[in-house]
Amino acid sequence: LRDEKSTDEGDPIKTRDVWFTERDDKIALSLKHDGKLYDVQSDYQRVSVFNTQAYGNMLTLDGMVMTTEKDEYVYHEMITHIPMLTHPNPKRALVIGGGDGGTARELLRHDSLEEVVMVEIDDKVIEASKMHLPTIASALEHPKLNLIVDDGIKYVNDAADESFDLVIVDSTDPVGPAEGLFTVDFYKEVYRILSKDGIMVTQSESPRFNSKVFKEIFQTYRGIYGQEQVHCYLAYIPTYPTGMWSFSYSSKGGAHPIANFDEAKSKAFAKEHRLKYYNEDLHKAAFALPSFVRDMIS
Ligand code: SAM
Repeated sequence: LRDEKSTDEGDPIKTRDVWFTERDDKIALSLKHDGKLYDVQSDYQRVSVFNTQAYGNMLTLDGMVMTTEKDEYVYHEMITHIPMLTHPNPKRALVIGGGDGGTARELLRHDSLEEVVMVEIDDKVIEASKMHLPTIASALEHPKLNLIVDDGIKYVNDAADESFDLVIVDSTDPVGPAEGLFTVDFYKEVYRILSKDGIMVTQSESPRFNSKVFKEIFQTYRGIYGQEQVHCYLAYIPTYPTGMWSFSYSSKGGAHPIANFDEAKSKAFAKEHRLKYYNEDLHKAAFALPSFVRDMIS
């Protein structure tokens, strides 16, 4: 698996650096690695795991970075604990995508949850994560987790009205199997299956890098939940394009992510679980947006 040496005729063996590069037509992100640990073409996408030198094992789908062992906690803590510590009493949570297991792992830290349903379309993502990202996939066998391998769109369409307190859309970018996860129809269905106090959180791309999709996402959600019920928050994720990543918070019952969150509980929770990114101060601060981001969605 290791492709690090090349021999020039008569010369001593030279060591060649090997880099993974995620490339767009204008920018690229490169990480030096020691080899590919997993590389399978699934029915949906190319699923690979690289052993990177700076960020540990890294999952990529179709050449795009999904998560790495060393910075995954930022994304997974922020997509999960913001809604979980705002909702007064969440009992059932649904994760769409999230096959690496990081979101489920964070959700299952919360004892109040009676069930977490996770619907991931690609069993190869689950397989690769169990094999090579064990710290991220650590809760995939948890007794409260109902892990379903299927299309999340179909699952949501078939789910009963008001059957989930929290829906987290932990999806890939809007290409391939995730394309339908970025449509108005899908989000209307998510709204339907949320309970009266229900909250939906989604990853909503990079404001700077995917500005068109970012703006459309907020416009769509505000059309469904109402202007005041949808909020944007940010986190710093070094292995995603530009490092600035956004999440959307939408509340069916109008719970405000700062006014309604339980600060004391949040503080105790972060301490008890030794969280590495999320804490009670960051819960509030993450909703403070740079002016250019605020302008994009106002
Ligand atoms: N954290 C990542 C990011 O923002 O780059 C995304 C995590 S990745 C685990 C997202 C997962 O969504 C992938 O495993 C992919 O297979 C899954 N997915 C894409 N479309 C889906 C669909 N229609 N239903 C269920 N899962 C889907």
